[in-house]
Amino acid sequence: MPLRNVERTPAPVWNALVAGNERFINFDEDRPNQDAPRRRQLRDGQAPAAVVISCSDSRVPVEIIFDVGLGDLFVVRTAGEILDQAVFGSIEYAIESLGVPLVIVMGHESCGAVKATADALDGGDIPGGYQRVLIEKVAPSILEARAEGLSTITDFEKHHVVATVDQILSRSPEIHAKVETGEVGIVGVHYQLSDGRTVPVITRNVD
Ligand SMILES: [Zn+2]
Repeated sequence: MPLRNVERTPAPVWNALVAGNERFINFDEDRPNQDAPRRRQLRDGQAPAAVVISCSDSRVPVEIIFDVGLGDLFVVRTAGEILDQAVFGSIEYAIESLGVPLVIVMGHESCGAVKATADALDGGDIPGGYQRVLIEKVAPSILEARAEGLSTITDFEKHHVVATVDQILSRSPEIHAKVETGEVGIVGVHYQLSDGRTVPVITRNVD
């Protein structure tokens, strides 16, 4: 069912996005909600179906990957999908003010921020300027992953997604409360550049 027709609760929205991702994987996209009527309709407001926190990587264009269009997703992108106050404010705005029922955290294969952080932890260069904050924000996820015996960059990328979901739930009482009641769902995915698939690594309220 197209995203615009689904019930605005976590599981139906997630299922519609999974269906869109399948179309993208199979080069069978509908490219919905990208026409003139949709543009005019959106002058009066927005009701996106999900908020997505994704890496800024140019190979991870969120709307294309889920085969959706204008007004469908509220997207926050930072290198390494890191969290700060502005990101938390954006997620809470999407949930509280726009009534979004689903939060998606998207990491991906071959993530430069994760690789750079792993290299820095191994004694490599730490980038200067504001790039330093990226390393500082990703490092705890990698240290945690290593403590659990994980060792590959792919493992680190996936664990960083899980740790980011955990952080969202532990640091925002507003989001945590809505996930506890089932009103809001949360899914962490690892996007595979090679085949276009978004593989869930952690889910709440979408099964
Ligand atoms: Zn990345």
